[in-house]
Amino acid sequence: MDTPAEPRGPLDPLRIPRFAGPSTFARLPTLDEAPRADVGVVGIPFDSGVTYRPGARFGPMAVRTASRMLRSYHPGLDVQPFTAQQVVDAGDIACNPFSIEEAIGQIQEGAAALGSSAEFLVSIGGDHTIALPLLRVIRERFGPVALIHFDAHLDTWDTYFRAAYTHGTPFRRAWEEGLLLQDRSIHLGIRGPLFSPADLVDDAGFGFDVVTSGDVLAEGIAATANRVRERVGDAPVYVSIDIDVLDPAFAPGTGTPEAGGITSRELLGILRGLRDLDLVGADVVEVSPPYDHAEITAVAASHTVFELVSLFAVNRKEAP
Ligand code: MN
Ligand code: MN
Repeated sequence: MDTPAEPRGPLDPLRIPRFAGPSTFARLPTLDEAPRADVGVVGIPFDSGVTYRPGARFGPMAVRTASRMLRSYHPGLDVQPFTAQQVVDAGDIACNPFSIEEAIGQIQEGAAALGSSAEFLVSIGGDHTIALPLLRVIRERFGPVALIHFDAHLDTWDTYFRAAYTHGTPFRRAWEEGLLLQDRSIHLGIRGPLFSPADLVDDAGFGFDVVTSGDVLAEGIAATANRVRERVGDAPVYVSIDIDVLDPAFAPGTGTPEAGGITSRELLGILRGLRDLDLVGADVVEVSPPYDHAEITAVAASHTVFELVSLFAVNRKEAP
């Protein structure tokens, strides 16, 4: 039997400085440069589903650039996420910027095709519309999941201007399509004005628990992580992170900013508290570089992706 080849990690930053070298995520190998892929980081540059500021089509490029700064050891989780497993940059899924329906189909096909080469995907958006086709692919492979959803917004609205597929509606569609488990999902970081009180009533009907940004402040990072853990239990888990969950102070470069958000320290801390869950996929969406300053948002998003990749590494390390 062949011994599996050692994972090929990022370029050595002490040999080739981090501002040089390839423009892949964290300067990782591409899919065809690695012996295999345990985790694929994939870009989905689609932003035709936004309701306010555009620009998230440039998110994958900006997050990759910011990710050059990442180093390879995670002291908080005591893991080397890029060598405890093979992580690759799986490139971008190209999709039609003029037809949302066609783009959703292309994202679904693209993600499904990658599933044969990468065991798990961490996707970089793109706007939040992309979560729906990603969850369809997840359902094919793992069945319905518990959704851990970080966002200022519920994203369970019905339609905008009669359009059913937008960045404000993916989780209502996901619920209708049977992609989510009953009463296992949770929103975190919710805040800001709604269209009407009925928004929350509808949302509760889709089986979500709601943790507001104020709740995170009042209860703290550890208690919030525990609340999430209790909610999802041993179900397969998908984590979807809209970067607008962060306060605009920490993520100005996003499509639909809302005041009063959580800090990047709180987001990364809660994620660190989610080790040993049955994580089967994740995305980080809504980074809009044209509205960013000094890469504030892109840096936060690149560290968020690093936390997610590290959770996969911890799970692999601790698997029986
Ligand atoms: Mn949002
Ligand atoms: Mn969203």
